[in-house]
Amino acid sequence: MPDHVSDRLDPARLQEILDGPWAKVRNAHREHLDERFLPVYGETGDQARERITRLLTELPVELGIASGFPTEYGGNSDVGGSIVATEMLAQVDLSLMVKAGVQWGLFGGAVAALGTRRHHDAYLRDIIAGTIFGCFAMTETGHGSDVQQLRTTCTYDPRTQTFDLHTPHEAARKDYIGNAARDGRMAVVFAQLITDGQQHGVHAWLVPIRDDRGNPLPGVTIGDAGPKAGLLGVDNGRLSFDHVRVPREMLLDRYGQVAEDGTYSSPIENDSRRFFTMLGTLVRGRVSVGGAAAAATKSALAIAVRYGDIRRQFGTPDSDREVLLNDYLAHQRKLLPALATTYALHFAQAELVAALHDVQGSDGPVDEHRQRELESRAAGLKAAQTWHATRTIQTCREACGGAGYLAENRLPSLKADTDVFTTFEGDNTVLLQLVAKGLLTGYRDEFGSLDGWGRASFVAEQVREMVLERTAARSVIERLIGAVPGRDEEVAVTDRGWQLKVFEDREKHLLDGAVRRLRNGAATKKDRPFDIFNDVQDHVLTVAAAHIDRVTLEAFVAAIEDTADPAVQALLSRVCDLYALSVIEANKGWLLEHGRLTPARSKAITAVVNGLLKELRPHLRTLVDGFAIPDAWLHSAMLREEPHRQDAMAAHDAAGDSHAAPA
Ligand SMILES: Cc1cc2nc3c(=O)[nH]c(=O)nc-3n(C[C@H](O)[C@H](O)[C@H](O)COP(=O)(O)OP(=O)(O)OC[C@H]3O[C@@H](n4cnc5c(N)ncnc54)[C@H](O)[C@@H]3O)c2cc1C
Repeated sequence: MPDHVSDRLDPARLQEILDGPWAKVRNAHREHLDERFLPVYGETGDQARERITRLLTELPVELGIASGFPTEYGGNSDVGGSIVATEMLAQVDLSLMVKAGVQWGLFGGAVAALGTRRHHDAYLRDIIAGTIFGCFAMTETGHGSDVQQLRTTCTYDPRTQTFDLHTPHEAARKDYIGNAARDGRMAVVFAQLITDGQQHGVHAWLVPIRDDRGNPLPGVTIGDAGPKAGLLGVDNGRLSFDHVRVPREMLLDRYGQVAEDGTYSSPIENDSRRFFTMLGTLVRGRVSVGGAAAAATKSALAIAVRYGDIRRQFGTPDSDREVLLNDYLAHQRKLLPALATTYALHFAQAELVAALHDVQGSDGPVDEHRQRELESRAAGLKAAQTWHATRTIQTCREACGGAGYLAENRLPSLKADTDVFTTFEGDNTVLLQLVAKGLLTGYRDEFGSLDGWGRASFVAEQVREMVLERTAARSVIERLIGAVPGRDEEVAVTDRGWQLKVFEDREKHLLDGAVRRLRNGAATKKDRPFDIFNDVQDHVLTVAAAHIDRVTLEAFVAAIEDTADPAVQALLSRVCDLYALSVIEANKGWLLEHGRLTPARSKAITAVVNGLLKELRPHLRTLVDGFAIPDAWLHSAMLREEPHRQDAMAAHDAAGDSHAAPA
């Protein structure tokens, strides 16, 4: 592989790699979604809702947003395509993407995944066509992250063969629910199933909430969640049920059935396991949100990089032109590592989408292990991508100065609309705990309780096996790591094997430490299971973050290995260096504390990173152009206006010079 990037590259060659197997879906969106679909700045909430609802009905479904549904109902069983379509919509308008995500991803997805043939036959076609708008009503005012503790009840009455859906108090009210305040006609409602006086855990029902004219049905109270920080075009609302009668067949009964006489049966005996299996089938939502956050991050970076290439500030003594923002090292420090991380996460997301497509797209028996791995990866990458979006979009806003704060330049809405991505589809902190639990125990049966955390001896046995598991290019990564000489000083910090080893060692060390601390806790705090875990919670979250860093780097390495174009490979390899070294730089404190880095090497890394910034500066624009975001989609006035301002200023200065010359 060439180790130096020289010539400028045609961004189309990068695009080919980035677009990946669903390039067709991406291109169809680029071609068909014109100005009509772009955000309108300065709208009121009502105007935004009105517009987004209209656009949702005008959105050509054949572009791919509903392609994950079975072919017989109007989809084309293309799970990966539907996720990529969501990413593309996110680059156009985030309210439109979220509203579409609620309709086809959450609502339609829940009917498809949790329902059975009779639900599919009766509803899927209308859901796909958008003739039934629906909601996914899980969260309650009192319980968001811990959804096993939902308080809404749905009690079966064999005499009427109906369920009684009831909100017992205000904390059990369904809250924040997308599509509820205005448009939803039906909702998938999650509640505790009770039959024969016995509770069987959380299940889901398909419940009509409004009549044809849009009025709430008897017993259903609908409210508006009120003004929000962003996503103005999405009608989030509240739902309460006052003893609403729900026919028996409206229970989405793939994982739990109630017979006419009230007998409960399920293929999964354990309530907790059943619940997490049900949630696992809904993993697509999480994968979509991570991908959408990444798409918005790419838009922000494209805007900031393009602005930095036309905006000048301060002069130098040796030139009569002022300096372009992108030529400042500090500016490169802001944008390039963020861009490198965006590339790394892009490849990790691409790998995740491919895995999801394989696992959920096949009709064969579910491979439990792959499904668990998928859920953990989806949780971790959703957290990593949404946090990265929040940080990077803020950085891009600052990188554009005051102009970045004006609505007409797009960045404020990108910031406001993606903010909540760190919270919905699972709060990021809670998701990282899921990742950590997966790493520590290797099984998910006891996710609902803290008991599993106390089983430290079992945990210790599982650890080594789990941590070495890799999906991407296992043999390549092992070869690269295997080739690293024993002594650190003998190897360059740009050696890929060394970088991989640092990531792997850090994860292993953190995991070993967490297990040790859990084991000590289990010995000394036997009667306080909560404290066993809580006292190491920060440590455990760091393990999960380190795991995601490693998985991300491995996906990047695998993608480079798969790239046939040598020039693209060379450029990506430098970007990968920057990603790996930025993570190492950010964790210098820990690496120094734990003797994984000498002070001399630690200083060298800063110098190498600065060298990489210089080397990549000429490729900055190419790197964002590789995302192939249509110019119109960036929808940022300053990108159109700044070149004219610069020309006018240059012309004015030139005229001033000619006046000044005779003097
Ligand atoms: C705009 C928007 C749209 C939404 N759309 C929908 C929808 O359509 N359908 C739906 O069902 N829901 C929806 N939600 C709800 C969303 O999924 C929840 O808000 C989310 O799951 C978090 O729950 P919560 O708000 O109760 O926060 P909480 O669970 O109360 O969390 C608050 C804080 O406590 C921390 N925390 C919680 N538990 C732990 C723990 N064990 N350890 C450490 N820290 C912890 C979290 O990290 C977080 O910082 C939406 C929310 C919003 C804001």
